[in-house]
Amino acid sequence: MDAWDTIIVGAGSAGCVLAHRLSADPSHRVLLLEAGGTDRRFWVRVPIGYARTFRDPAVNWMLQTEPEPALGGRSSYWPRGRLLGGSGSINAMAYVRGQPADFDGWAQQGNPGWSWHDVLPFFLAAEDNAAGASALHGAGGPMRVTDIADLVHPLCDSFFAAASALGLGRTNDLNGAQGEGVGIYPIHTRGGLRESTATAYLRPVRHRPNLTVHTHAQATRLLLQGRRATGVAYLQDGTLREAQARCAVVLCAGAIHSPQLLQLSGIGDAGHLQALGIPPVLHAPAVGEGLQDHLHITHVYRARVPTLNDALHPWHAKLRAGLRYLLRRTGPLSMSVNQAGGFVRWGAPGADRPHIQLYFNPASYTTQPAEGRRMMNTDPFPGFSLSAHACRPTSRGRIRITRPDPRVAPAITPNYLATAYDQTQALLCARLLRALAAAEPLRGLIAEELLPGGQAADDAALMADFRARADTIFHPVGTCAMGPDPQCSVVDARLRVHGVDGLRVIDASVFPAIPSGNTQAPVVMVAEKGARMLLEDAAQAAAASTSTRQS
Ligand SMILES: Cc1cc2nc3c(=O)[nH]c(=O)nc-3n(C[C@H](O)[C@H](O)[C@H](O)COP(=O)(O)OP(=O)(O)OC[C@H]3O[C@@H](n4cnc5c(N)ncnc54)[C@H](O)[C@@H]3O)c2cc1C
Repeated sequence: MDAWDTIIVGAGSAGCVLAHRLSADPSHRVLLLEAGGTDRRFWVRVPIGYARTFRDPAVNWMLQTEPEPALGGRSSYWPRGRLLGGSGSINAMAYVRGQPADFDGWAQQGNPGWSWHDVLPFFLAAEDNAAGASALHGAGGPMRVTDIADLVHPLCDSFFAAASALGLGRTNDLNGAQGEGVGIYPIHTRGGLRESTATAYLRPVRHRPNLTVHTHAQATRLLLQGRRATGVAYLQDGTLREAQARCAVVLCAGAIHSPQLLQLSGIGDAGHLQALGIPPVLHAPAVGEGLQDHLHITHVYRARVPTLNDALHPWHAKLRAGLRYLLRRTGPLSMSVNQAGGFVRWGAPGADRPHIQLYFNPASYTTQPAEGRRMMNTDPFPGFSLSAHACRPTSRGRIRITRPDPRVAPAITPNYLATAYDQTQALLCARLLRALAAAEPLRGLIAEELLPGGQAADDAALMADFRARADTIFHPVGTCAMGPDPQCSVVDARLRVHGVDGLRVIDASVFPAIPSGNTQAPVVMVAEKGARMLLEDAAQAAAASTSTRQS
């Protein structure tokens, strides 16, 4: 059996950061296990390829939630990346950190070291902002952040003007000192290609002799000696293998699969595990609980003026866009679909910070697989869309395995709209989209509201539409939450699993509360901070063993 110092499970947004930082010490042997394969694929690297990988089983776990009562019994489709770079290799690339108060909230929940002041240096260390360094931006870090303000569709200005008519502010930097208002989302691209933690952190160090990366290697359970994690069992090429870890096993399998792996290994709610025939190693009732996600609604419009649809739909436009991209790595193929948006306070007097996130997309398309029509192929007429979601929903769901079989996806129960707050915010989101569309100059550009359409004439109808059509915006977090109490959290503030030695979780699952915006930048920050903690612990252990030898 192979032995390593640290085994990292999952080469996603977090896992690639860990692999880079931990293997910087040539004496530290690191094994990185990834269930999926390479990210060297055309549609992964080309930014607009997001539309192609959205339902591609070669790179995507393609999960489904349980039927959701609040969504009329619908099951929601949850794409998750299954390749090097993880979900960061198939995501929409928006670079958003969240609001400072989000992280102050993490610290206030009993997690010392996680306030905004504490986490900002890790955001900066990860960032390579094309505009250079400043008090709130990093330059020279691994992850390229590109400002696309000069490249976006001109229709974004009409969105800004409509927002201004509603009294919503304008910001030039959604991650800056003035994060409130509407603006252009910066994105993770470098030279017109997608930047993920696989390209930014892993690829430059893959040659290190002390770093081994196994792809198509799915961890099936942890190896435990009593209450200590000693390694990982994994399935590769149909063969079950084992690897030993001298220092630590680090779970970076994401908010769905990290809790799944803990439960498969006997770490979870004892009653639930026993019912499945899994002998509990540790009664850890919070494993898989606390799931949060952003649930968004999109309103779609037929436009009177040309939109991005016209630049992407007809074959001659596709050809032009393709040539522009191939020759100069620019144009619509070099960007994501959601170009503008922001964080606003609206319809909630007394709100002390933005509570709604907006997206303006100068195109219209379907995200449902439709017969004869490729998913996310833009409409054959001018159109655009507006989306909104509550920044900080309060409903909590769960992830639970249903069989003691690692090949079976766990049951995902988001429990959307379970609180009165979330229902109120949902209605506000729908009303805000209507208000934006009714404000000039957007109003004058709209030929017809396609969705929800004129029949949604009052609040009850808007809410019914929300329940009928709202969907995930792909931000599940919180299923192995950080906190001081093992009864209601899974890891402590140093990301160590309560009650198990040598085991950490470092990915979106440890968020104690969902940040107000998109989740990848916070994941990378958590991974940078988690890597620092592991290195500190290793240095401390080395110092302790030296002093033991000397005495
Ligand atoms: C379609 C989509 C669009 C998104 N858009 C944005 C956006 O624009 N901006 C933004 O900030 N965020 C966005 N997100 C969210 C963001 O990408 C995620 O929050 C982030 O990537 C999660 O990082 P993670 O490391 O926790 O998990 P992941 O990046 O999902 O990594 C988990 C990795 O573990 C692997 N794995 C799982 N189980 C096992 C196992 N048993 N053994 C071995 N390997 C395993 C997976 O294959 C995967 O590679 C989007 C997500 C999606 C899916």
